[in-house]
Amino acid sequence: MDFSLSVEEREIRDWVRTFVWKELVPLEPEVLRRERAHQPGLTADELTELQAKARESGFWGVQTPEEYGGMGLSAVMTALLEAELGRTFVPFYFGGAADNILFHANEEQRQRYLLPTIEGTRKSCFAITEPGAGSDAKAIRTTARRDGSEWVINGEKTFITGGNEADFTMVFAVTDAEKGAGGGVTCFLVDRDRGWRSEYIDTMGEWGPASLIFEDVRVPDSQVLGEVGQGFALAMQWIGRGRYLLPARAIGSCERLLGMAIEHANTRETFGAPIADRQAIQWMIADSGVEIEALRWLVLHAAWQVDQGVDSRHAQSIAKLYGGQKANEIVDRVLQIHGGMGYTRELPVERWYRELRLLRIYEGTDEIQRRTIARNLLKGHVRIGGALG
Ligand SMILES: Cc1cc2nc3c(=O)[nH]c(=O)nc-3n(C[C@H](O)[C@H](O)[C@H](O)COP(=O)(O)OP(=O)(O)OC[C@H]3O[C@@H](n4cnc5c(N)ncnc54)[C@H](O)[C@@H]3O)c2cc1C
Repeated sequence: MDFSLSVEEREIRDWVRTFVWKELVPLEPEVLRRERAHQPGLTADELTELQAKARESGFWGVQTPEEYGGMGLSAVMTALLEAELGRTFVPFYFGGAADNILFHANEEQRQRYLLPTIEGTRKSCFAITEPGAGSDAKAIRTTARRDGSEWVINGEKTFITGGNEADFTMVFAVTDAEKGAGGGVTCFLVDRDRGWRSEYIDTMGEWGPASLIFEDVRVPDSQVLGEVGQGFALAMQWIGRGRYLLPARAIGSCERLLGMAIEHANTRETFGAPIADRQAIQWMIADSGVEIEALRWLVLHAAWQVDQGVDSRHAQSIAKLYGGQKANEIVDRVLQIHGGMGYTRELPVERWYRELRLLRIYEGTDEIQRRTIARNLLKGHVRIGGALG
């Protein structure tokens, strides 16, 4: 068993670490100021400029296959990069990526959707959740009815990330009510100018998702992604594309937050001594350090399984559940260590507090991860302690 990184892995990670500290962290005060004024932390142009700067050094399409101009990095390497990006709350991500299911596009769709999305000239969003169907995604009610050579889509999607900015959506609709998720759901590529509209949803986070409303939106047959009736499998493939990446990002955030807590604990004095001298504070710091270490190994193990091509769903659920729970406990402790200052908007702690809360909800809530983990154990799909084979 070898836990060390290769020279190449270390170089890639260190490049991103430097990029984060040199290019992104200095933007933090301005990002905070704008967000406090209810503006986006980065404008689209600023994001594009930063992405172009990273591209000059080859950081483009981290997981995009090399034949599409990407880096085609492994899951482990990608997890390491996400952890680095998580060290800042500046809303940056590398350019050159497209949703995994867009790679199922046929030749015409490839030209119109996949390639422009990778190049960053078009923006997509993934729309399955509905007001009446979240965790229970099989309960979706949006319909697509055949009318000659066209489909007529009706329904409402909710909480769609990027739904306000997207110029096309990958929307999932019931095309055969009897079959439902077992062959009766289809994915459609629908341009905004086909007539769907989006409405901003105000959340406790800094970027609002959207509701998408479809009223008799018509699309030709050519807009079906993959096969008619195979949409639910595509949706599951999208959701399962990299559950480990969400807690991976949280590793970086928690490390940065813990660093802030340590600095504050060492300098803030009460009753004639730094609060770092108090066992109550030391235990919060110790527990956080232990949990970050544990989270790192859970995430890397899940990513390693992805790279091995084995079924990684169980390991990914464990990493997602643990990451969501522990990141929230850690940010809460860090806020506590900062006392009243932690609660102010002068520091970014409360911002991270709000952002990390989402980790327990989207792409499978804590309860749904537990359901998956328990089912795997109860039904014997995985062996207790079977992680090492
Ligand atoms: C900011 C944000 C961004 C999002 N982005 C997207 C996106 O881009 N595309 C998209 O399609 N969706 C998106 N979602 C939707 C997200 O995936 C759902 O909110 C999530 O799956 C939970 O569904 P729900 O909100 O309907 O809650 P519900 O499913 O109604 O659950 C309510 C509560 O009941 C619990 N619960 C449900 N079923 C069970 C069970 N069987 N056993 C025990 N407890 C249970 C849940 O864990 C939760 O605590 C986003 C959500 C948010 C908040």
